[in-house]
Amino acid sequence: MRLALHWQILIAMVVGAVGGLLLNRTVSTSERTLTGEALPANARALDVETLEFRDSTDRIEVQINFLKGGHKVYVVDGTRSESDSLVTLKELKEKQPREYAWFQQYGRSPARWVGDASQKLGGLFLRLLQMVAIPLIITSLITGVLGLGQAQRLGRMFGRTLLYYVSTSLLAIITGLSLVYIISPGVNSKVAKVDEVMPEARVQLGKVLFEQLETLIPTNPIQAAASGSFLSIISFSLAFAIFALVVGGKTLDTVRDLFSSLFKIMMEMTMAIIKLAPLGVLFLMLYATATQGPQVFVSLGWYMLTVLLALLVHACIVLPLILKFVARRNPWEYAKAMSPALLTAFSSASSNGTLPLTMANVEQRAGVNNRVSSFVLPLGATINMDGTALYEAVAVLFIAQLYHGENLPLAQMIIVAITALLASVGAAGIPHAGLVMMVIILQAVGLPVEMQGIILAVDRVLDMCRTSVNVWSDSCGCAVVARFETADSS
Ligand code: ASP
Repeated sequence: MRLALHWQILIAMVVGAVGGLLLNRTVSTSERTLTGEALPANARALDVETLEFRDSTDRIEVQINFLKGGHKVYVVDGTRSESDSLVTLKELKEKQPREYAWFQQYGRSPARWVGDASQKLGGLFLRLLQMVAIPLIITSLITGVLGLGQAQRLGRMFGRTLLYYVSTSLLAIITGLSLVYIISPGVNSKVAKVDEVMPEARVQLGKVLFEQLETLIPTNPIQAAASGSFLSIISFSLAFAIFALVVGGKTLDTVRDLFSSLFKIMMEMTMAIIKLAPLGVLFLMLYATATQGPQVFVSLGWYMLTVLLALLVHACIVLPLILKFVARRNPWEYAKAMSPALLTAFSSASSNGTLPLTMANVEQRAGVNNRVSSFVLPLGATINMDGTALYEAVAVLFIAQLYHGENLPLAQMIIVAITALLASVGAAGIPHAGLVMMVIILQAVGLPVEMQGIILAVDRVLDMCRTSVNVWSDSCGCAVVARFETADSS
């Protein structure tokens, strides 16, 4: 008997994590020195005597000793703790491409080597999902709206969907703020303050929201589809479908036939790709744990615990209650139906990447009508992010606790709540998007942006969790909207 897909994914995830942790424990440190003939030609040309590489999970050193005496060291340690140390390997790649290339070729520990290879392989799975995402959204959305029959019903669905998005995001923020207030992970904390300025440019809230508005009106819809701009694609497809309804008659029938056929093909294709999810998840987990080790799970313990607890309350209490009493669905059954999507969201940390899977699960395993899912999900993947909203609120309050040594006053907390909601609307459904948007909130309550450096190291694992909650909330939204849709049509 074949194991159900969600079990396969779960097992793959555990195997990946355990394998990665084992690798990290045993072969994540290495030291290597190159000299004489072993040196790469471009190093010899620069009169290098020896190249020394030291690699461990959280620190990389590339040391260049010159024939004429003197040496140069590049350190990557994730913190910018030393005067000229670099935060990430990416930074080394951008600033010192030659030294980076040497390190990649000669200096990586076996664990990092396996991690990098796994990232590439897991990346193939993500590419497959990305490949189907745009055509799937377009055909699905258009088919969904055309299936609605009349433009008036769409308006009602739109209203309900927005109401759901805003109210669940606010509930998530309130849960997060209450818990971080009660637990106060940042008061009396010993985490050092970081003085360096983060490289990210300052973001202004008004500007970001206006940009969102602009993307709703793509100047070139084809280009928007080609560059994968979800909001633009959604608005154009909606407009296209609505006007097809307005034109009606034979045109409408032709368009409806065409798009529902295309949609069927895209759905089949997605289902085939989804069968590969266990492999993709295995590699992605292996990558995360082999290169970062248990660090991914343990540092900044209390802060993480607070975020996780709040996410848990939202995902396991608030949303299930809404499912049960508003959507009249059995939360446990519904979660089981959605589990492949939730687990993929967890390992990929991307709502957009998971979207094809979410759509397939909602329709085929949870039995929600395509009319609803094709509308609620693509829109939700971009603008409904309960997990991200909650995370933003907790993280900013945590930083405030570290900075001031106490909690923010109520008025400031309200500002945090409102800006967190808007920031979550503005965040894209890709890994670490929430981190970038946090700048807006920090600025709104006058906290130094550079203190974000403290939570950088643990962002990945929290990103995985909040992305699952984002996808879970979108899925629950489908059930809620679907219930009223059926009530309307009966
Ligand atoms: N990674 C999240 C998502 O795709 C966004 C975030 O960074 O919070 O839903």
